[in-house]
Amino acid sequence: MPTPSDAIRSKTESSSQGQSAVRPKWLILGGTEQAAALAARLVNQGEVEVVTSLAGRTSDPAPLAGAVRIGGFGGIDGLVRYLRENDIAQVIDATHPFATRISRNAVAACGETGISLQVLDRPEWRRQPGDDWREVASLEAAATALPAGAKIFLALGRQYLQAFAARTDCHFVVRMIDPPATPLPFARFDLLLGRASADAGAEAALFERHHITHLVCRNSGGEAGYGKVLAARELGLPVVMLGRTKF
Ligand code: NAP
Repeated sequence: MPTPSDAIRSKTESSSQGQSAVRPKWLILGGTEQAAALAARLVNQGEVEVVTSLAGRTSDPAPLAGAVRIGGFGGIDGLVRYLRENDIAQVIDATHPFATRISRNAVAACGETGISLQVLDRPEWRRQPGDDWREVASLEAAATALPAGAKIFLALGRQYLQAFAARTDCHFVVRMIDPPATPLPFARFDLLLGRASADAGAEAALFERHHITHLVCRNSGGEAGYGKVLAARELGLPVVMLGRTKF
């Protein structure tokens, strides 16, 4: 069974057969480190024209190889229009595993236009010796799994925070790339501005500095966000791990 990378490589190879002066244009639905790495690789290979699409959630996104477009397409119809108007030959969904709406839209739009869709899988993290995970299937279950008086590192996007607002008996430490547009819904919290680190030592030092007792995160997979999971293992902290079910 070919890996997604193999499949992409083979698509690149077949699309270059009988290549004319105009290179086929591929659209990467991005916003992840995997998408950035793929864009860099395809641009380096030089066989296709690469456009990465970002939702526009961060004000200063990291630089990307190839062209970049920013902002929603306007649902399935908008994506269909974009694909047709821009003569896209291949779509690669390299979005975050919890970004489910854009992935569903990509399936529908590619189905309607007949354009090929490749999905980059990002394997889930697996519990390792030393991990103390409480796996939950919903935000509500994550919120109720926390003991009173806990100091929690809440590694979730801003759209997921409201579910924890009723836990006025806990203190939350939240990290965001950009300052929030609206106040956070917590009675007691610290807001940190910055990105997740793959460096377990840096994440552990941060947890110690803030006297963290619990980590709440989603099972996103990938390397960039794994530093915090390693740090929790190193410090023996319980982790409330949200699985990849819809919520
Ligand atoms: P989502 O719920 O699946 O998408 C919501 C809407 O945002 C989509 O319907 C689409 O708007 C727009 N959108 C999302 N990704 C887009 C993209 N790559 N290019 C253009 N428009 C996009 O997604 P989300 O959870 O808000 O995540 C947004 C982006 O952040 C994704 O690209 C994802 O890879 C990245 N990201 C998400 C997370 C996360 O925790 N969810 C973490 C890290 C990075 P229209 O319907 O108007 O087209």
